[in-house]
Amino acid sequence: MVRSCSIVAPEPGAGVRDRRNRAEHKPQRRGGARLEAATQATSEAIPAVSTAPSNHREPLVVPRSEHMLSRKRLSSAALKVLYRLHRAGYAAYLVGGGVRDLLLGRRPKDFDVVTNARPREIRRLFRNSRIIGRRFRLVHVLFAGETVEVATFRASPEPDEVPDGWEEGEEGEDTEETDPAAPVDENNVFGTPAEDARRRDFTVNALFYNIADFSIIDHVGGLEDLTAETLRTIGDPDLRIREDPVRMLRGLEYMVRLGFALEPRTEEAIHRNRDLILEASPARLAYELLEVLRSGTSRGIFRAWKRFGILDLVFPEAAAAGPVLQKLLSGVDRRINAGQAVDDPVLLGMSFLPEYVGLLDRAVTEGGRVDNPQLLGGLAGLIDPAELRLHLSNRNVHQIRQGLFTISKIRRPPERARQVMRLARQEYFPTAWAFYTLAVEAGLLPAQAHRAWAKALDRLANNGTLEDSKEPPARSRRRRRPRHRRRS
Ligand code: ATP
Ligand code: MG
Repeated sequence: MVRSCSIVAPEPGAGVRDRRNRAEHKPQRRGGARLEAATQATSEAIPAVSTAPSNHREPLVVPRSEHMLSRKRLSSAALKVLYRLHRAGYAAYLVGGGVRDLLLGRRPKDFDVVTNARPREIRRLFRNSRIIGRRFRLVHVLFAGETVEVATFRASPEPDEVPDGWEEGEEGEDTEETDPAAPVDENNVFGTPAEDARRRDFTVNALFYNIADFSIIDHVGGLEDLTAETLRTIGDPDLRIREDPVRMLRGLEYMVRLGFALEPRTEEAIHRNRDLILEASPARLAYELLEVLRSGTSRGIFRAWKRFGILDLVFPEAAAAGPVLQKLLSGVDRRINAGQAVDDPVLLGMSFLPEYVGLLDRAVTEGGRVDNPQLLGGLAGLIDPAELRLHLSNRNVHQIRQGLFTISKIRRPPERARQVMRLARQEYFPTAWAFYTLAVEAGLLPAQAHRAWAKALDRLANNGTLEDSKEPPARSRRRRRPRHRRRS
């Protein structure tokens, strides 16, 4: 069945403000130099709309000629998905951070697509796809190196789910609930484009880029807020936070990442409702935490969470770590921004380092040996509460525990070659080494032993032994055969 893809007027009765109308309302210019540069034509066209979005507001449609979002800046995967949906007769919009970031001249982290096609219809269009999610089933279209998330317009403002199987650390694994044949009361779940825009968290996250005519559709005043660099919940902030307290974490995250100001009512609501964060599911908290630690801006975001009293609730171990945590987070941000991979156990376990170093000091006996049972006991006391609170996967917890414990084995310069080889071969050694390096950089542990280990590991990597590489290994020297003199 081919559906209409006339999405400029997405709802019966919902018209489009015409350009004459918009021209009468000049935008309120409140800063936003970056966006203005990127969307000069757009901002010219933004009306001074009421800041409290009403449910009956008509969408603002900004035609291609009046904004600077170019298709060339979309990934080829996102374009393929949008075009295929469009050619099949469906409405297809780019939405969320993709539109927001492109309008700001930033590189989007990922691309999300929203459509009126139902999950099974989407699945049929893309062989390289799978349906995920329990209630709000989404389709992940998989390309080499990129996954495009395609969702059907949704009416419900309820919280998103974390990807299936995430708690077990296996993103996207099919479960019984994700069986495409499983019944879902689709009419209760799916909605109109306007409803879909309004169920989103912040106005700047709810802009649609329409592949049918390359226009931008704004149901919630997002373009104006983008221009003013303001972060505002869609609708009543207290209500939206009560619906899903994780929005508080996300709001502070965007504030830091985008350098935006919180709109005062949104800010007050976060202060007022911060305790509600304890009602969020552990899996979602852990998911959000990891997203932040992977963002390259974790230092600023943790500081904002702390300022709002939220870090103490979500991650008290990090809140207790004191100023040294900022140094540790800088180390992580630097690596992420340089394109280096930092594994989840390192991200999740790094906040334990200050406390762990104290434990280690206390576990060193007078003879200089480490009391292993004492250290392991202390480690359990440190990690177990976080494991429970955030439902960390067994794999992550094991890796964090082993990684931290192993620091006790490498806190002194290596004495024997076998010691280095044995430890370096362990599956958890890279985690231990990352912890150790971060701790040394943050001034928690002395650098001298770390340097000696680094040298030994380098030699091991370069020539497979701990001998100095300048000296050719003895066994490889060829013996010359004695020449046989000819008898004269
Ligand atoms: P980024 O991917 O750069 O972190 P994003 O805005 O794309 O930012 P995602 O987590 O990818 O964020 O989510 C995509 C979109 O889904 C958001 O832009 C927002 O519109 C919507 N969304 C995500 N989480 C929520 C939520 N908790 N409540 C309401 N809408 C949400
Ligand atoms: Mg995104």
